[in-house]
Amino acid sequence: MVDYIGVSDVARIISSMGAGAFMERLAGEIEADYRRWSQFEKSARLASHSPVGVIELMPTSDGRLYSFKYVNGHPKNTAQGLLTVTAFGVLADVDTGYPLLLSELTVTTALRTAAMSALAAKWLARPGSRVMALIGNGAQSEFQAIAFHRMLGIRELKLFDVDGAASAKLEHNLRALPELSDFDIVRTGSTQEACRGADIITTVTADKRNAVILTPPMIAPGTHVNAVGGDCPGKTELHADVLRMPQVRVVVEYEPQSRIEGEIQQMPADYPVVEFADICCGRAPARTSPAQITIFDSVGFALEDYSALRFLHLLASEQRDACRQIDLVPRLPDPKDLFGGTLGGGRRARLRKVS
Ligand code: NAD
Repeated sequence: MVDYIGVSDVARIISSMGAGAFMERLAGEIEADYRRWSQFEKSARLASHSPVGVIELMPTSDGRLYSFKYVNGHPKNTAQGLLTVTAFGVLADVDTGYPLLLSELTVTTALRTAAMSALAAKWLARPGSRVMALIGNGAQSEFQAIAFHRMLGIRELKLFDVDGAASAKLEHNLRALPELSDFDIVRTGSTQEACRGADIITTVTADKRNAVILTPPMIAPGTHVNAVGGDCPGKTELHADVLRMPQVRVVVEYEPQSRIEGEIQQMPADYPVVEFADICCGRAPARTSPAQITIFDSVGFALEDYSALRFLHLLASEQRDACRQIDLVPRLPDPKDLFGGTLGGGRRARLRKVS
């Protein structure tokens, strides 16, 4: 039998732990995995593009466990009542190749993306950052707000979305959480207004084009930009001039993938970037001056999903009711009798007994 974690199981885990605590623990797991970067098999994800979206496979392995995620990105989906991003994934045992866990990863992707954003900001943002602009108030936005409140100490949140109903939904959901009662939440009328006075700017919009969400005048010296929404070819959020600002330092997850999918797809191949693993392993400095503008050019890397699946599997083993079991793989008395053991009622085993 294979462990199975569905959406309702993740919801139960989160309601017992709290989303903030879950993301903080997950960020610790992600950081621990980034610290052993050299042990992972790494490849840019395999993407199948259509005019309206993308479907991607994201595999990795550390030689002991293997994982992959199936994920899509379809910005026009919400107009039909469907999510922009959905996902599921598998964790498997490298020694046998057997799957250990099949899990929903739609909610978990939002959790792991926000955990990774807050983790990167812990390294890159100015200490004492308190104000965050949150541009794009759709499915990912609550997770980003909660992670930054919990892990960075963000206490003022300035929202903007071209869809006012999305901002109202975000504000409503955040106000319902007692642990966020000290959050000062302000809805603004433009990205420019939201960014004014922000220590951190998170962009998490969805539009399959080279959108211009941020331009240089919106970004004050010392700001940390958490650019989440530009994550596939032809889909970016920052004006290229932002990347050309002299004080900018861009941090990516896995450089070969980010050159294809990140904001830096707009720049020449020798544009300087730093991989996050180099920073958290001490091979490269994080922020080098208070006035530096740091940009986390987030696209989402397979290691983060590996960490999330490993963490969910750990929780499932600790809390017996955290997951279910499904017969994804046959269990046979005779592994050479797949036919008899599944379709033929164990015929070969019975024949052996008779002879
Ligand atoms: P969503 O469709 O639920 O929300 C996106 C929001 O952006 C919508 O409310 C929309 O109105 C708003 N928006 C679009 N254009 C805008 C603009 N010009 N200014 C302000 N707001 C604007 O999508 P989601 O699930 O929240 O995902 C958001 C983005 O994050 C997507 O592009 C998705 O691909 C990306 N994403 C990235 C990662 C990662 O690891 N980097 C992970 C998950 C999702």
